[in-house]
Amino acid sequence: MTVPPDVQATVVMALKRAGSRECGGVLMGEHVGQNHFVVRRLTVQRPGAIAAFVRSLGGVVQAIKAYCRSNGNDYTRFNYLGEWHSHPLFSVQPSSKDHATMRELATDRSVGGNFLVLLVFRLQGQRLEGSAHTYLPDGSAHPSNLDLDEGFE
Ligand SMILES: [Zn+2]
Repeated sequence: MTVPPDVQATVVMALKRAGSRECGGVLMGEHVGQNHFVVRRLTVQRPGAIAAFVRSLGGVVQAIKAYCRSNGNDYTRFNYLGEWHSHPLFSVQPSSKDHATMRELATDRSVGGNFLVLLVFRLQGQRLEGSAHTYLPDGSAHPSNLDLDEGFE
């Protein structure tokens, strides 16, 4: 999972604005190789709104549709990837509630897709750190590589 510098900048800005409150949104990505995805766009929800998990918010669905449309509705390559949120005050490892919520989403047939990704970020000084997990429809969760380096696509 690669998060390019321009998307990292969006996250950093959102984290700074949210301060000690959690914030988050949805991830839209590009499939660039076997098991390799690049986050191309992400939404930022209002701090506090994240607890309700953002999928139900109308604006998010619109954003995903617009993203797919702007990429020619090439769904196998460009699509919704999952969710992100911040842990401003504790470790970037998902909480047990995070795991439970993502498992529920990943095993929900109405959501579709083969997997879901959860990225958790926090700021350590000026530096962005994060974790990535992939959730499969069979209910399993897998720690994934999160590449925050520059320039690698
Ligand atoms: Zn969390």
